[in-house]
Amino acid sequence: VAIEQRTSRGGRKSTVATMTEIYHFLRLLFVKLGTQYCPECVLPIDEQTPEAIRARILRDARGQEATLLAPMVVARKGYYTDLATWAGKKGFEHLRVDGEYQPTANWPRLARHQEHDIDLPMGTINVTPGNEATLDRLIGDALAYGHGTMKLLTDAGETIFSTERACPGCGRSFPELDPRLFSYNSKHGWCPSCYGTGLALSGFDEDQTGEESVWLEEEEDHEAGVCRACAGRRLKPEALSVYFRERNIAEYTALSVKEAADRFEALALTGRDAEVAQDIMPEIRARLDFL
Ligand SMILES: [Zn+2]
Ligand SMILES: [Zn+2]
Repeated sequence: VAIEQRTSRGGRKSTVATMTEIYHFLRLLFVKLGTQYCPECVLPIDEQTPEAIRARILRDARGQEATLLAPMVVARKGYYTDLATWAGKKGFEHLRVDGEYQPTANWPRLARHQEHDIDLPMGTINVTPGNEATLDRLIGDALAYGHGTMKLLTDAGETIFSTERACPGCGRSFPELDPRLFSYNSKHGWCPSCYGTGLALSGFDEDQTGEESVWLEEEEDHEAGVCRACAGRRLKPEALSVYFRERNIAEYTALSVKEAADRFEALALTGRDAEVAQDIMPEIRARLDFL
């Protein structure tokens, strides 16, 4: 009986991927403790409260002169004459175009085929605890005009802050993590090139998804290779860009059961992380520990 059990649940050489019931808990762990990265910019997406932004600025830019800006245009083409007119009417004398201040009253003709970044300057202050009230007001204004995203400009460079789940590089927004993102059976999670099959299949489109017979035949006919978009990992780039302890979910499922057991054994969660994962970790450990 013991041997049968071991076979059915996977031996030492089998990977986590072959253990179907563990994947459910792995997904939950990633939802609770995973960090989304922007697949394009490879930057972490973390939302912050205005208070947390203020604390960061007071810590990192203390004693420096800082300008707070609201990003209005991120990497888009256009002349933005209407934007300049609107800003001028609101009392803003300048907009910052690709790092250079331009007068809203005497708006230059922007390069047509070039993508532009345009910021609305909220104000410049010396970052000191005495200026906290002004800083708060500027943060509030910047986040309001920037729809939850703002920039801080100091001699050290530019820092982007966001109260939304937005990429600090390209501004793209990311939804809250959801277990369906890690499901290759769901349109929320599957690789859009192979619809979660992990295979490079010709003549396979979304209409056929779910009709297993169709793609199974294709596979037999053409000896389908591995999907190039996901490298056989079956999930969309957004899902593969969520990391827990420097690995994405596909890297966890590719571990052997032994490696995974060692990894989760050694995993020390503390504070909030331990609290959040307290119902999940025992389930994962119990399923890896049977060997
Ligand atoms: Zn990005
Ligand atoms: Zn794929």
